[in-house]
Amino acid sequence: MTVASTARTAPACRLPAIALVGRPNVGKSTLFNRLIGQRKAIVHDLPGVTRDRNYGEAQWKGKRFRLIDTGGLVSDAGGKLEQTIQQQTRRAVEEADALLLMLDGKEGLNPNDREAADFLRRSGKPVFFAVNKIDSPRREDNLYEFYRLGESRLFAISAEHGLGVAELMEAVTASLPAAEESAAPDEAAEPVRIAVVGRPNVGKSTLINRLVGFERSVVDAAPGTTRDAIDSPFSLNGEPGVLVDTAGIRRKSRVSDRLEYFTIRRSLRSVDRGDLVIHVIDGPEGVTDQDAQILSYAHDRGKAILLAVNKWDRMEAQGADPEAYRRQVYERLPFLEFAPVVLIAAATGFGIRKMLATARAVLADYRRQVPTSVFNQALQSSVKAHAAPFSRGRPVKFYYGTQTGKAPPTFTLFVNAPGSVTEDYRRYLINQFRRALGFSLVPVRLILRARREASRGTGRTRPPSRGRSG
Ligand code: GDP
Ligand code: GDP
Repeated sequence: MTVASTARTAPACRLPAIALVGRPNVGKSTLFNRLIGQRKAIVHDLPGVTRDRNYGEAQWKGKRFRLIDTGGLVSDAGGKLEQTIQQQTRRAVEEADALLLMLDGKEGLNPNDREAADFLRRSGKPVFFAVNKIDSPRREDNLYEFYRLGESRLFAISAEHGLGVAELMEAVTASLPAAEESAAPDEAAEPVRIAVVGRPNVGKSTLINRLVGFERSVVDAAPGTTRDAIDSPFSLNGEPGVLVDTAGIRRKSRVSDRLEYFTIRRSLRSVDRGDLVIHVIDGPEGVTDQDAQILSYAHDRGKAILLAVNKWDRMEAQGADPEAYRRQVYERLPFLEFAPVVLIAAATGFGIRKMLATARAVLADYRRQVPTSVFNQALQSSVKAHAAPFSRGRPVKFYYGTQTGKAPPTFTLFVNAPGSVTEDYRRYLINQFRRALGFSLVPVRLILRARREASRGTGRTRPPSRGRSG
């Protein structure tokens, strides 16, 4: 297995990156959340609860950048956990274009702060010093002792209340290199987000550990103290990837984490955060109602889906027939006829390489854009081969269409009477496009829009209406 070693590769990305560095509890996650504008990292009052790097995208006055929230720089690394956190911070520093050292203005200067400052300066990258928790003018006095770090410009901020953040971000973003906009669509370089979901005990943690490698099992080392929404970077056969919410899956400290209800709720949340959903099915148990529930949620949201049948070692021992098994899966999940089924044994590594290759193929389809001319050829020949049923005695006419979205591939078609296109015909078109345009592994959406007929006879104009997507 080579997956573990490639997990060391940092997500390569054309967007410039800022790393938030500092001791645990100084307020890194608070600033991170403020900048990315959503509650992604959960803020706790316990020191050291951010254990892994957390990636987010943000912009400041139109300048886009990535933010890396680090686990915290603990310099008196006693335990293994501290060492790992340090290692992760090092890597974040390597990946970043600018470094933001956060200091705790409420607690005051800490002996470790100087060491951290020196460490960051040695990187040769621009370093910004933000003294956090300066919530009121009264607290501003706390700033002065930090000048002992030898920095002439300190930014007094309150991440919680947003004070001073504008000045800080102004300076930090000014130091960033421009995003390489010349290079074709950015998405290919953005880490692809993968959600590993499924019922309790199907082998999700085993799979995640295999994908990200042993080193990143930090979470298991300290049960009960981890946050929920923590993502793990990993390499998808060389392509930068992020497994979302891995901490939540690997934490097995609470009884509730073993319960069906909570696992499913968490799965649904992870589905929202992923582009590709790897849904793990327990091979011996087969597809259950709960599987169908999670999967239809993912399908409704237009996610790319890969069905991983785990514990295949046990099925093989029983002499199971892979093709018969696959058929059963599709019978149970007819709405997922496009989703590939891969057979794996997370515990032994069987099928993992193939699963990753399949995941890449699915994502390539998912993010592909087809030229309008090619799409219209497919549209015309599909309509010619099998015309839409008449609507109130009049033909349904498809004028033209174009791809208006990726992930999932979405096509907008201009039609004289969108409301008259039957579900069957919509499905027919989707299948045609899948086949003709090479979207065989992913969901395809159609949006039907009204376009007035060329003849003006009736004088009736219909406002463009939006059809349901399928
Ligand atoms: P991290 O470990 O560095 O990511 O720190 P967190 O963002 O989790 O914050 C640690 C604690 O500091 C939390 O209780 C936050 O509410 C608190 N905190 C963060 N920013 C501020 C601030 O600007 N002022 C005050 N008073 N508290 C803050
Ligand atoms: P999770 O609750 O979905 O995260 O499941 P775990 O990863 O904790 O695995 C649940 C149980 O299934 C554990 O006892 C694993 O050892 C076992 N398991 C996981 N993968 C495999 C596999 O490929 N083959 C077999 N036979 N057992 C597995």
